[in-house]
Parts: sequence; structure tokens; C-alpha cells
Amino acid sequence: MEILLVYIMFILFLLIGSFLNVCIYRIPREESIAYPPSHCPECNSRIKAIDLIPVVSWLALKGRCRTCETKIPARYPLIEMLTGIILLLTYKVTGFNINFIFTAILIATLITITFIDLDHKIIPDGLVIFLFAVGFMDKVSSVIQNQPAFWVNSIWGLLLGGGFFLLIAVISNGGMGGGDIKLMAALGFWFGWRGILMVMFLSFIIGGFVSAGLLFARSAGRKQMVPFGPFIAVGAYLTALYGTGIWDWYLSCFM
Ligand SMILES: [Zn+2]
Repeated sequence: MEILLVYIMFILFLLIGSFLNVCIYRIPREESIAYPPSHCPECNSRIKAIDLIPVVSWLALKGRCRTCETKIPARYPLIEMLTGIILLLTYKVTGFNINFIFTAILIATLITITFIDLDHKIIPDGLVIFLFAVGFMDKVSSVIQNQPAFWVNSIWGLLLGGGFFLLIAVISNGGMGGGDIKLMAALGFWFGWRGILMVMFLSFIIGGFVSAGLLFARSAGRKQMVPFGPFIAVGAYLTALYGTGIWDWYLSCFM
């Protein structure tokens, strides 16, 4: 029974990944994410329902549009798989409850932000506002369930996350974008001051390693701007799911 439930959820998560692909493509182009239905960006033909099955359709069509045979990048099924696996890991940590819903929305939004930032080097304001709104609802839901909502902690997190990145932006003279600052403020509101410190710490460590690796791999890339949003997203993902464990491990290093 349990395994059947996991299969059904995985299929649902793949479908969510498919929806994230639509968001990643359309939001930065300021197109509606609901209308029109999916179409091939090359020949504009409407994609049939049978060709909208996550991962499977891409494999069946050998990665090409059924009508015009234009290549469909492998990134589409990969994002579907990534979303499916990450949300399954989320379920494993939280179990199925209201907390899972909020964490899953947070993580799905972070995946969307990651790929939009990689493609366009922007973090759309709409997605940051959406994160704020869901973070706010998360707290309202805590109040309704008679649990502490930690409003003050969230305000400190917001000021700390947004403020620190604003400071970096000023010092580095635009090395950190406005989108990164706003995203950090929204995540600070989600995580509170201690959580956002961990997000910062992790994102700088991961960002440092990846940037060094990129520089090493192609020495000419020194002037290329590496978007920072994906590192924030990975840091936030790790903090949301494994924050307590990372904190305990960190403390144990000093004991
Ligand atoms: Zn086509």
C-alpha cells in the first residue's frame, strides 16, 4: 500500500515538474501560465495530450516535436525528474501534512527561480511576491492550529537576509542583483534569522566551489557573470529539509 502511494505521488510530482517547465518558459516572457495550452515554440502546433506525459513522451518522441521534428531539449524531462525526486525527498522528511504542502510549494518555486535565473539572469518579482504570500499563509496556518508563528523572528530574518545582500550589492558595485536581494528577504521571512544565516552560509560555500570549478574548466570565463539565484535556491532547499541536521553536525564539530 505504502509503495503504491509513493508511485502515485511520484507521478503527481512529475506532472508538477511539467508545469514548472511551462512556468520557467513563460513567466520571464510575461506570458500567461494557464493559456494558451502547451504548443511547440517552433511550429506553434498544439501539443496533444498523449505527448504531454512527463518524461515518457519525450522518450517516445526521441526528443523531437511530433509535427515539425524540432529538437526538444533534454532539459525538459530532466527538470521533470528533478522535481519528482526532490519532492519525494521532501515527503520523506516531512511526511504528508500541511507542512509538506508549504515546503513543496517553496521548493517548486525555488526550482522555477533557479532555471529562470540561469536562462535570463533575472528573478521575476512575481515569484518573490508569491513566496512572501505563501510564507505569510504558512504563518496564518500556524496561528489557526494554535502553534507559535514566530512573526518577530521572521521580521529579523527578512531584515538580515535582505540587508546583508543589499550590503554586498553596494560593496561589490552591482555584483549582486536586485532580484537576489528581494529573494533573500523573502526567504529570511520564511526561515527566520538563524535559518537565513544557514542559507547564506551554504549558498556562499556552494557558489564559491562552483564558480571556482567553472573558472578552472574554462579559463576565459572570468568576466562571465554567474547568476547567484541558483546557489541561494540550493542553500534554501538544504536548509528547509536538512537544516536541523546540518546545524547539529556543525555544532558537533566544536564539541
Ligand atoms: Zn514543432
